[in-house]
Amino acid sequence: MKVVKGLYIHIPFCSYKCPYCDFVSIIDPGADHEEYLDLILEELKLYKDLNLRLKTIYFGGGTPSLVNPRFYAVFLKKLSDFIDISRVEEISIECNPENYKLEDYRFLREIGFNRISLGGQSLREEGLKALGRHHSVRDVYNALRLAHKAGFENINLDIIYGYPSQTLKDLQQEISQLKYLPLTHLSFYLLTPYEDTQIGQLYSKGLLELPKEDTIADMYNLICDALEAMGFLHYEISNFALPGYECKHNLLYWTHEEFLGLGVSAWSFVGDVRFGNTRNIKLYKDLIKEGKKPVEYQEKLEEREKLFDYFFVALRTRRGIEKNLLPEIPESLRDFFEEEGDRWRLNRRGMLLINEILLYLKDMFYIL
Ligand code: SF4
Repeated sequence: MKVVKGLYIHIPFCSYKCPYCDFVSIIDPGADHEEYLDLILEELKLYKDLNLRLKTIYFGGGTPSLVNPRFYAVFLKKLSDFIDISRVEEISIECNPENYKLEDYRFLREIGFNRISLGGQSLREEGLKALGRHHSVRDVYNALRLAHKAGFENINLDIIYGYPSQTLKDLQQEISQLKYLPLTHLSFYLLTPYEDTQIGQLYSKGLLELPKEDTIADMYNLICDALEAMGFLHYEISNFALPGYECKHNLLYWTHEEFLGLGVSAWSFVGDVRFGNTRNIKLYKDLIKEGKKPVEYQEKLEEREKLFDYFFVALRTRRGIEKNLLPEIPESLRDFFEEEGDRWRLNRRGMLLINEILLYLKDMFYIL
């Protein structure tokens, strides 16, 4: 039986909806977080036949920092009564800057969390405004200081670039602040105007301008150069870590290891099957209470799909893919790849065009 090494828990609650966000998020100030975490445990029990040997646990959202840390303490205790979590090396939680106080971070550290991922999104007030965020730059600095003071040494900051009106100089100014912050990891995401978001709607109607392709390419190069100069390893297309601080949980995704996702809209990959939970919280609760798995989508990957799926995730990383899986790089793609030993990986130009390159490879694979 395959071994599941990663557990993802989706906390769908948010205090407001960000205009660029296409995640499932539920705005309900009265939501019962304790009940939800209990249902997550009930869901886990429906997978008792799986061989869970967890290395990582990741609480993502939504906004996991809306939940009282005491509920996480109860959750982790109950989880450890049910499965062995003694070999877990990394427990991460995504936090918004305005939620937790020093005692909350301290408590999280005490109960076993050892990695914070802070959704700062921008280090410019104009940037936060353009992204519709309700916190300030000061909140970001403060949250980083508190988490660090509470004993978190492994801290990620999420930053979004390519937001409306952002210039290269603005980005440069944000990046220049990073050296003062206690960070071991940075995720830089390009703002994508997804159709079903407020920003996506405005963009598709021509009511909102985003930086042009050339500017985006310059921004990406600026980020990569600056962070590498600061000693961060560019180990995945959008992710940078000081040596030894790569996110172990995300590395499971990118190396095609098995993981189980629990909660509303969570995804899993177990035993060649990819499956996703319902996005409807009421349905999720009803199904769990009836003792049924809340799975809405399920797909068994055939050999070729599995291989392409592997390409899809592995080419995002610095490790790339084994040459024996793709002995020849097509002529038209050679400028976007580099080789290291027995592996191919995308160079920086390739990283910028990864979606187009993957589409090309996909067509090629399905023709073969
Ligand atoms: S970006 Fe984060 S905080 Fe904002 S709505 Fe989406 S999940 Fe919630």
